Amino acid sequence: MDAEDFRQIKDAVRQLVREEVVPLEERIEDEDRIPDQLRAQIAEMGLFGYALPEEYGGLGVTMSEDVELAIEFGYTTPAFRSLFGTNNGISGQVIARFGDETQKKKYLPGLSAGELIGSFALTEAEAGSDPSALRTSARRDGDSWVINGSKRYITNAPLADLFVVFARTNPEEKGGRGISSFVVETTTPGVTVGPKDKKMGQSGAWTAEVFFDDVHVPAEALIGEEGRGYAKALTVLSRGRLHIAALCVGMAQRVLDESVAYAAAAKQGGAPIGRFQLVQAMLAETHAELLAARSMVIDVAARYDSGEDTSVGPSSAKLFCSEMVARATDRAVQVHGGLGYLRTTPVERFYRDARLYRLYEGTSEVQKVIIGGALLRAAGMPRG
Ligand SMILES: Cc1cc2nc3c(=O)[nH]c(=O)nc-3n(C[C@H](O)[C@H](O)[C@H](O)COP(=O)(O)OP(=O)(O)OC[C@H]3O[C@@H](n4cnc5c(N)ncnc54)[C@H](O)[C@@H]3O)c2cc1C
Repeated sequence: MDAEDFRQIKDAVRQLVREEVVPLEERIEDEDRIPDQLRAQIAEMGLFGYALPEEYGGLGVTMSEDVELAIEFGYTTPAFRSLFGTNNGISGQVIARFGDETQKKKYLPGLSAGELIGSFALTEAEAGSDPSALRTSARRDGDSWVINGSKRYITNAPLADLFVVFARTNPEEKGGRGISSFVVETTTPGVTVGPKDKKMGQSGAWTAEVFFDDVHVPAEALIGEEGRGYAKALTVLSRGRLHIAALCVGMAQRVLDESVAYAAAAKQGGAPIGRFQLVQAMLAETHAELLAARSMVIDVAARYDSGEDTSVGPSSAKLFCSEMVARATDRAVQVHGGLGYLRTTPVERFYRDARLYRLYEGTSEVQKVIIGGALLRAAGMPRG
């Protein structure tokens, strides 16, 4: 795609977000769902496949373009992006990068068009920060595989048509080795999805448990090489982390805009609260951190595209930006005073929504472990 085509897409996304989605935020919060009309608009704009390859119906954006769009998506309720996030990200990328031609032809056009929803099923009860401890198994049975186990907190599971499932195919091997990835259609007998989780925030974005009970899938369901699934998970998670960092930038911009508008208008003692320098300080701190975060995301994305850094940079960006947006949303509530604590005030909602960014696709602690470990390995420290 050339620069002009991308500019048009970005402008259209910005317009959709600001003119159509922002006014729907309270409805999405109250009804806990994305309206059908909005889902249709998302599909029409090609957003279900914006990061999937063009030859399979996607828009094929680069990582640098991805973060620019994600900053726009981040300006409104995270439920909006979440609806098409797994197709473009953690689930769709596994098929796009590691699937064979048959799998790509079978699934990617449907994912790109929004006719199919894909979910990424990695996390288990005792395998979250360390997914290499996962216990879901896939046993060979003639020409097919039999999958048993359960996954939790799986985004879009209640809507999903297919799951990219990570399961241990070699029980003899511990840790990341011996894990394979499969594409499992939701209609396969033995697949069940639990009730929607009740969450702190991000209303309208759904997660649930998924159970695999003697689920028979054909040999063609295996994605890539047997025993190499864990490396695939790490690859797509790293890309996802940079995307999340950009969403955090968008959300911080939104709560800053809300806070500036409020501080300029709301009065105490007859004067706008923006006249108080301590209120100005809160706006200034968010603004400065936001500029730093935006520059970081753009720089890390360029290095990702060039292949210079696909791991430490994305982890660093996710760590910094998710912690930054937590401070930004907290200050935004403070600027709004008591109103900031009331439901229906956007910053109250963003304060709860932002909390997830420090948890999923690797907690802040996990990002620190990745960054610190990589720096020390590069310096020659032997693995313990
Ligand atoms: C809303 C939501 C959506 C999600 N969507 C998906 C999805 O689509 N697909 C999917 O597979 N998963 C998904 N997840 C799972 C998510 O990625 C995990 O919850 C996350 O990785 C943390 O794992 P855990 O919940 O098991 O916590 P734990 O790993 O038990 O962590 C608990 C605490 O221990 C700390 N900790 C753990 N290990 C270490 C360590 N080595 N060093 C230092 N501290 C450590 C953590 O940082 C944390 O503070 C989702 C989760 C949520 C809440």
